[in-house]
Amino acid sequence: MPSHPSPLTPHRKTARRAVFLDRDGTINVEKDYLYRIEDFEFIPGVPQALKRLQDAGFLLVVVTNQSGVARGYYALEDVERLHRHMCAELQKYGVILDGIYICPHHPDQGQPPYNVDCDCRKGKPGMLLQAARDLNIDLAASFMVGDKLTDLEAGHAAGCQSLLVQTGYGATPMLPPSLTETRIFAALPSTAAYIVRKGIFFSSQ
Ligand SMILES: [Mg+2]
Ligand SMILES: [Zn+2]
Repeated sequence: MPSHPSPLTPHRKTARRAVFLDRDGTINVEKDYLYRIEDFEFIPGVPQALKRLQDAGFLLVVVTNQSGVARGYYALEDVERLHRHMCAELQKYGVILDGIYICPHHPDQGQPPYNVDCDCRKGKPGMLLQAARDLNIDLAASFMVGDKLTDLEAGHAAGCQSLLVQTGYGATPMLPPSLTETRIFAALPSTAAYIVRKGIFFSSQ
């Protein structure tokens, strides 16, 4: 009797759950068109909240609209440099992000190749759908957390549960009637506590 699975044993590749995270106003303090490392500042408790989600088995995927690239305020390389800094800071807390997806576009502002009506700019779900393909994510068992209506819309469109944080622009939420059932949290730490509880409920189904 084999004590371990044979390499030829077919096994189901189980889809994984993720928490999709908006960046500005959700992870870091909202500062309009942030791109300088010295301006990057975590919202209090966020690295610890991400660790909690990671430890609970969720993939962590950042999905961020950066139309500042299209508008010519900064370059895609600046965004990527800032993200290397963010990842290095998170590693100090034992957090490793599973993916960072950037939409550098704007439908009608800026210059080629970025002034296009893309599928990735939130409220559209393109970044979440791409991540789901890349990382084998079960969208129906996943969450989208953000501070803007467009984050919630992207999450809904992808089939995730969308959660609003009252940090960043979420401090003055304006939800249309169709989204009034959206759960609202003070910040990412309380959101993470909810997700972890809900995640245990999911996995016991
Ligand atoms: Mg935001
Ligand atoms: Zn885009």
